[in-house]
Amino acid sequence: MMADANNWMATRIKPDQINKYLVGGKCFIDAPQIENCLKTNTKNDAARVRAILEKSLAIQTLAPDEAACLLNVADDALWEEMEAVAGKVKQKVYDNRIVTFAPLYCSNLCVNDCQYCGFRRSNSAAQRHKLTSDQIRKETEVLAGVIGHKRLIVVFGEHPQTDTDYIASTIETIMSAKVQARRGFGQIRRCNVNAAPISIEDLQILKKTGIGTFQVFQETYHPEQYRLVHPAGTIKGDYLWRLYAMHRSMEAGVDDVGLGALFGLYDWKFEVMGLLHHALELESKFGIGPHTISFPRIEPADNTPLSNSSKYKVSDANFRKLVTVIRLAVPYTGMILTARENAAMRKQILPLGCTQIDASSRIGVGAYADALDEQQGNKQQFYLSDTRSLDTAVRELATAGFITSFCTAGYRCGRTGKQIMNLLRCGKEGHFCKLNAVITFREWLDDFASPITIAAGEIIIAREIEEIRQKLPDFYMQFLEYYEETKAGKRDLYF
Ligand code: SAM
Ligand code: SF4
Repeated sequence: MMADANNWMATRIKPDQINKYLVGGKCFIDAPQIENCLKTNTKNDAARVRAILEKSLAIQTLAPDEAACLLNVADDALWEEMEAVAGKVKQKVYDNRIVTFAPLYCSNLCVNDCQYCGFRRSNSAAQRHKLTSDQIRKETEVLAGVIGHKRLIVVFGEHPQTDTDYIASTIETIMSAKVQARRGFGQIRRCNVNAAPISIEDLQILKKTGIGTFQVFQETYHPEQYRLVHPAGTIKGDYLWRLYAMHRSMEAGVDDVGLGALFGLYDWKFEVMGLLHHALELESKFGIGPHTISFPRIEPADNTPLSNSSKYKVSDANFRKLVTVIRLAVPYTGMILTARENAAMRKQILPLGCTQIDASSRIGVGAYADALDEQQGNKQQFYLSDTRSLDTAVRELATAGFITSFCTAGYRCGRTGKQIMNLLRCGKEGHFCKLNAVITFREWLDDFASPITIAAGEIIIAREIEEIRQKLPDFYMQFLEYYEETKAGKRDLYF
């Protein structure tokens, strides 16, 4: 078995699928240049900062010098201005919509040894488990049929027993489950994937399943630090194989990709610059930037010292800053704020430009069907800080003026990649999204919400319908037709 695993590991990395993207043998992350850019962009008077903010408001990606200038701002009043503009940028591109999803951990088998992760192979305290297709169906039935999620992110360790065929069959099992709900039915309509980097050929297999976003976090963009926390001799130890995961994805036709950095492994300003360089590289090579950027902070994991002791841990104050600058630097992208953050923190950070949150999250393998409210460290990658229900999250959002969108129409209508980039930049995707947000919110309220959440939701729905009447008169009659049909129990209508 060990020999099989070693053989499998030895064939994962395809050097030609790295080398072909290098320019003059070099990758697009030049660490000394980034450090220098951060060191030299210290002339950040109000006039320069405001000129940069105008660019963000015009939904243009910032240049590295400009992002470095924002990261170096020292004046609190200027940071307040930057935060306000970050909120405006989000409003301009995504209006008051927030998308919700849940993570589904399918397996914690892993051949890698990332020093911050509870699933790493040297963690002998971890209880290993891989879900069977029957168990995946049961998890999905809770997520789609009881809680009411429409979107999942499925998460995997890297292991021969959970290779691409397993991931593909997992997606198929999830997408085929349909569960009776109060009025209509519950169903997962979009399945995003967070998994190890794979080859172009493997990505083509995932494309056939109808995968949503393919997410791979670089963890740290700093090559030396990367090598320190990802031991050599493991697949993940190869920085470049990971760095070019999204290039391969684009080439395989999976053009909806999610970037991320694990904040707390290295200097937070450097990581923001890394994310920006990555977005710029994808834009210049493929004409398509990242659909989402994630910015998880390291959380404690069982029997995993680095998860508590990293000297680069990011303070709450700096977390606010990094979220603000990501929003301003890559204005069109979706931004994912996860349940790693506690409820109070999420409430504070959300208005800085986030577009997606998870809710009702359980990250133990099999934890939804087990109905375990308590977190079990030896089955989890790390501990979550916000385990509140989707119902509570939706209610809190509604009370703060946000509408929860359960829309998954975009990618089902082919609005991905270049198409969505153009629509987002000119604000047009918002038209479809607004209509679909109201229709899917109506579905969810009728199928899953508690009476007190329904009450909060009706106020938002009434406001949105009035806005559609005033601002989108051409769509209004068709919208009303779909809305009334949805109220009568019809499901999955969208523009
Ligand atoms: N195993 C795949 C990989 O490493 O690419 C899938 C991702 S892993 C299951 C999901 C993400 O969780 C990782 O990319 C990492 O950023 C994050 N993560 C790992 N350990 C963490 C911790 N202690 N706290 C917070 N996030 C963590
Ligand atoms: Fe495995 Fe991913 Fe955890 Fe690394 S982060 S040990 S690759 S599950």
